[in-house]
Order: sequence, then structure tokens, then C-alpha cells
Amino acid sequence: MARVINFSAGPATLPLAVLEQVQAELLDWRGSGMSVMEMSHRDKEFMSIAHEAEQDLREIMNIPAHYKVLFMQGGATAQFSFVPMNLLRGKTSADYVLTGDWGKKAAKEAGRYGKVNIAASSEADRYTYIPDPATWKLDPNAAYVHITPNETIHGVEFHIEPDTGDVPLVADMSSNILSRPIDVTRYGLIYAGAQKNIGPAGLTIVIVREDLIGQAAAGTPGIFDYKQMADNESMLNTPPCFAWYVAGLVFKWIKQQGGLGVIAERNARKAALLYDYLDSQSFYRNPVKKAHRSRMNVPFTLANPELDADFLKGAKAAGLSGLKGHRSVGGMRASLYNAMTLEGVQALVDYMKEFARTRG
Ligand SMILES: *Cc1c(COP(=O)(O)O)cnc(C)c1O
Repeated sequence: MARVINFSAGPATLPLAVLEQVQAELLDWRGSGMSVMEMSHRDKEFMSIAHEAEQDLREIMNIPAHYKVLFMQGGATAQFSFVPMNLLRGKTSADYVLTGDWGKKAAKEAGRYGKVNIAASSEADRYTYIPDPATWKLDPNAAYVHITPNETIHGVEFHIEPDTGDVPLVADMSSNILSRPIDVTRYGLIYAGAQKNIGPAGLTIVIVREDLIGQAAAGTPGIFDYKQMADNESMLNTPPCFAWYVAGLVFKWIKQQGGLGVIAERNARKAALLYDYLDSQSFYRNPVKKAHRSRMNVPFTLANPELDADFLKGAKAAGLSGLKGHRSVGGMRASLYNAMTLEGVQALVDYMKEFARTRG
């Protein structure tokens, strides 16, 4: 078996121990005589898997009891609509802070349901920094303030948790959830597609403060209504059972590692290894303001873009996969999610050094 070192932005690398456990349990989940894929979601076996996953997530993220945890489908993109459908609550507008393409897409979708106020944007500088919260033009009557704490394409990340007072803060944490401890109580709602730092695609996690739900706009389909989902323990219809199960194994893996504090230290070391190298030379370049660099997604360009194809070809031969940058930014991108090891990042840096030495 030859596994590559996988830097894909998503779907992305998973902990080997989790994959091995999935493999071991694939045909017969703990004496049930069937695969989790084949179980009724109403049976006690799957119910125990589902509950345990939620309990473990609550424990590792320290989620208070007055927050609901929902296991939904449709990816983060569906949440771009579900958030305004559920959280406008009769108000006319919402604030959006744009620090990358995902936030811009979220704002555009919200515009179909209400008025969108762009409170701040770094688009004019190609999303290379986070606008200082002191400069945000927030509307005190906004239904919520939406941010994207980590912009996966541009590699910019909030290293603060902004204070929006009484206006609920909504965060698309698709690409940095579980990468470090956060204070859940600073947020009204957190959502994340699973396929970056949680598990397989097809599952979306929503963490929402209880008092914000139950006022969905008229015409909101039941399956998109957070309150109905919460009242039915995310089983209003058949949930993405297998993805939920694998996510649960990832939560257990995080606990075994020592929790989010340990994970965060590891992530900081991994990112520093790559950024320190990038800053030490001029063959490769990262365009993001240092204080706002992402620890999860590191875009970089080669001094000569004509070498891109050769770089990727050599990387593949060295067992390094998923490095091609997003088409809107070009160049390369290395995603360093929780399951990426320090040795994996070291292998990338070694390859980059050798490529620069021989081709620079
Ligand atoms: C990947 C990503 C999305 C889109 O996720 P889907 O699950 O494909 O809808 C949205 N926001 C962020 C920050 C992402 O990284």
C-alpha cells in the first residue's frame, strides 16, 4: 500500500488510524453483523453512533448546553442560504465581512433573502489581509454579522474572535473548525462542511444558539429549518449516516491526541515550518499579510509560473499530492489540516528546496 502525502484543500486527508478503524469495522460494525452503511438510522446501533459523535464534539469544542448541534447535508454552500432563511428573523438586513471568495459567495446568496451590507472587504487587495475590525461599518440593526474565519482559497485567517456586541456573529468555519480551541459563546452560529477538517463530504455541522432558531422565514422548507432539524435530532429525514459515523471517529481521534490545545500547537508548528521556509528565500512567494496568514491553507507561487507544471510533476513523483492552487489564484496551495503530519510538511519543504536549487 502506497499512500501519498495529501495536501488537497478538500475533500482532504484523514487520520490513518481513523481510516484503519473504518476498514476494520466496514463489514461488521461491532458485532451488529452489518456495515454502518447498511444500518437503519432509527436503530439503536446508529442512534448510539450519532449521539456519541455529538457528545464528543460538544466535549472537544466545549459547546454549552444552550447551543444545538445539527448534522446536516448540502455542504457549506447550502448554509449560505439556510443562514439568511433562518436568522433574518423578520429583520431586513445582515452584515457580511468579505475576506475571500467564499464569503463573497455567501453574501451573494444572502442577497436573495434580504439586504446585504458589506461591512468590510479586502477584495481590492485580492483578499490578502483581514480588515481591522475597528474599521468595519457594522449596522446595529443587522440580523447578524457573517465572517469566514479561514478563507480556503486565499489562505487568510482570523487570529482573533471579533466582538459584534448584541448582533449575533455567524462564522463559516469549513476549513478551520477543530484546528484550535475557540470560544463558542462568541458566536451565534458556526457552520462547516465536513470534508476539510472533519470527515467525508456529505455532512455539514451547524452549531447554533438556541434562542436564534424557530423564526425561519415563511416558505422555508422544513428540511432547511434549523428548529425542525433540532427538534428531530437531525433525523427529520435520513441523515448522511456513514459520514456522521466517520466524523465521530475523527472526534475520538482528536480526544486521543489530547484535544484541541494539542492539535493547535501541532498546527502552529506545521504552518511555521512552511512559512519560515517561504520567508527565507525568493523563489517561492506567499502574498498574504504575515499577521493574517492561514495555518490551514498555504498558497504560494513560483517566481517563474512556467515552472508550475514541472513543479507539480516532480511533486507527484515524490509522493506529494494535491498541491495545485485554486484556479482563481493560480500557483500552488498546501493544505495542512489536522491529519497532515509534521513529517509530511517537512517532505514538502525538502522537495521545494531541491526544486529551487536545481531549477532556480
Ligand atoms: C470548501 C468551502 C466551502 C464550500 O463547501 P461545500 O461543502 O462544497 O459547499 C465554503 N466555505 C469555505 C470556507 C470552504 O472552505
